[in-house]
Amino acid sequence: MAKPIDISPGEQAALDWIDTRADGMVATLKDWVRINSGSRNSDGLERMRGELERVFAETGGRIEAVELPPSEAVAPDGSVMQQAYTPSFHLSVRPDAEVKIVLTGHHDTVFPKEDSFQDWKMLDSDTMNGPGAADMKGGILVMLHALLALERSPYAERIGYDVLISPDEEIGSLGSAGKIHELGSKAHVGMTYEPALADGSLAGGRKGSGNWALKVSGKSAHAGREHHVGRNAVIAAAEFATRIDALNGQREGVTFNLSRIDGGGPTNVVPASAVARFNVRVKDADDEQWVLGEIAKLEVLINQRDGITATLHGGFTRPAKPMTPANARMFEWTKTAGAALGLDIRWNDTGGVCEGNNLWAAGCPNVDTLGVRGANIHSHDEIAILPSLPERARLSALMLMKFASGEFDAREARSLAGS
Ligand SMILES: [Zn+2]
Repeated sequence: MAKPIDISPGEQAALDWIDTRADGMVATLKDWVRINSGSRNSDGLERMRGELERVFAETGGRIEAVELPPSEAVAPDGSVMQQAYTPSFHLSVRPDAEVKIVLTGHHDTVFPKEDSFQDWKMLDSDTMNGPGAADMKGGILVMLHALLALERSPYAERIGYDVLISPDEEIGSLGSAGKIHELGSKAHVGMTYEPALADGSLAGGRKGSGNWALKVSGKSAHAGREHHVGRNAVIAAAEFATRIDALNGQREGVTFNLSRIDGGGPTNVVPASAVARFNVRVKDADDEQWVLGEIAKLEVLINQRDGITATLHGGFTRPAKPMTPANARMFEWTKTAGAALGLDIRWNDTGGVCEGNNLWAAGCPNVDTLGVRGANIHSHDEIAILPSLPERARLSALMLMKFASGEFDAREARSLAGS
């Protein structure tokens, strides 16, 4: 482990300031949890973005709305359409500083407007149950207060930062990926605010992830009068599905999840259209190449069926984020800062993916679970542990102040990444 650090009186004063805002953080979180911002609720997402503009104005930086390009999506009926997104929130502070940090997060949640889970409830004095309480409205408040503490500290002028908060993380960041890549390419290190586990441990290395849809077209016919004329797209999609599933176990650490088949209709009609969807998780770039080769072979195979045409749509959206020396350096600094604050910071590898994958794909070493301690995310039992709001804000604030003082050399971490 790296050598311990001291906290200067100026840094201590900035850390102590965070505690004066602890009650305010909880009050704001309660308000935000009540704003539904499901990934497809554009009104709610824009309301939340308005909240972000309001609270981040306190940093004094330049705020803008970043328009996101639409992405391609295959509808259940096989038509290819454009998925539109509401803008990302972008804050820029001291863009000309020598050391640059990028901080990212998302204001969307997995809970749609129609979901019954729309309000917070205290389970005990420290535990709030609520949609997005941990993932990641609480995390956004952690990030904000760490930055506000930095701005009160002695060396703040030495670092600049970009904050990008996006409306599409829970649906794969297809709209915001380009902007995340642009900011990740310019920054020395990245900090992302997904929740830590309830015990405070972080996500270490992450697998990579890709999503595809195979669009299959056949020929419709009456099942009784001319069954032989029909070409069954659902059967072709089913063959593809079983062959995708059979790829599991063929390469260590690579998994295929066939998640859904759409298609067909009345029992007296040979179905002419179907869509098969699947997700793939990989360890590294070599796995990606192997996967692309295997699924391309299956696409060719399905096209060899008489009267069937099949087209793959999709790709790898979040490349793997392995525990390279550059990423390990970021984790060691997190651990060192935690130790100075009396926190024992640990981490474990995960198959889950997030914006940290996208930042690493741009060569930006990062820790991506700097948000609140929480549990049961993406379910109605989601909880945020409220004392972790100031606790984790102090952790990030101390890291930022050490990047500013130079005790943590962000440029060195970036040079370890080799790009
Ligand atoms: Zn999240």
